[in-house]
Amino acid sequence: MPTYEYDCAGCGRRVDIFFRSAAAAQDATPECPQCGSASLSRVMSKFRQARSEADRLAAIDVDQELGRLRGSDPGSFARWSRQLGRELGEDIGSDFREMAERAYSGDDPVERVDPEHTLRYRIEKRKADAAASDASS
Ligand SMILES: [Zn+2]
Repeated sequence: MPTYEYDCAGCGRRVDIFFRSAAAAQDATPECPQCGSASLSRVMSKFRQARSEADRLAAIDVDQELGRLRGSDPGSFARWSRQLGRELGEDIGSDFREMAERAYSGDDPVERVDPEHTLRYRIEKRKADAAASDASS
């Protein structure tokens, strides 16, 4: 019985959904078991994610993402930080949310400078690493 992972845009969770067959999964319009939302996007396997990592990272516009860090409401910020954390992958995504929340909640603008700088550095370094490993494989 195939199981697929989905990211739910409704509640921000990653959920597993079971299907009777691969064909049933193709035809289905799955709903989130947590919140009932139909806004689910299929999560590809680790293997395929790893292969396309350079592409995924290249699609991240650092300035745009950091721009969203400023002035967004807490609800959309929480969804955004989870989403970007996933796009960045586990290595740099794992503590990303904590860092982003620190930046977001900082009353003192100086508090925001360090996390932003760190994020930018990490994202750019990750892009370079991914591009290098793509070129060598
Ligand atoms: Zn949901």
